[in-house]
Amino acid sequence: MRTINLIVIHCSATRCNKDFPVEALEACHRARGFNGIGYHYYITKDGQLHLTRSEDVQGAHAKHYNKNSIGICYEGGLDEKGKPADTRTPAQKRTLLALLKSLRVDFPDAEILGHRDLPWVKKACPCFDVREYQGI
Ligand SMILES: [Zn+2]
Repeated sequence: MRTINLIVIHCSATRCNKDFPVEALEACHRARGFNGIGYHYYITKDGQLHLTRSEDVQGAHAKHYNKNSIGICYEGGLDEKGKPADTRTPAQKRTLLALLKSLRVDFPDAEILGHRDLPWVKKACPCFDVREYQGI
């Protein structure tokens, strides 16, 4: 297993009133030249958790930080007009919290950050303050 010291949370940067199913995410990432979905986990609006990449395999989601991290993405992150917004549904929040708690057990020392919390990232991703998960 790789050393994991970081868990990075992302949004798909798609509008909350549009569906962006896991198949569309995969097509998008393959079109960018990735070998499948770059995140390890994808949480759709219905709260379903999709295992999109083995934890053993390095992801493609956070430049310079892929080697020792796990990437989680939730569907959404933009409001109806395309502006960055915390669009997590109650089901997504429940799933994300459960996932993070379980990853905490496997990787107790890993830091949980939002994509935008990494240095030099100019995006709003994941469009909410992940400090709400500090101390879980
Ligand atoms: Zn991101």
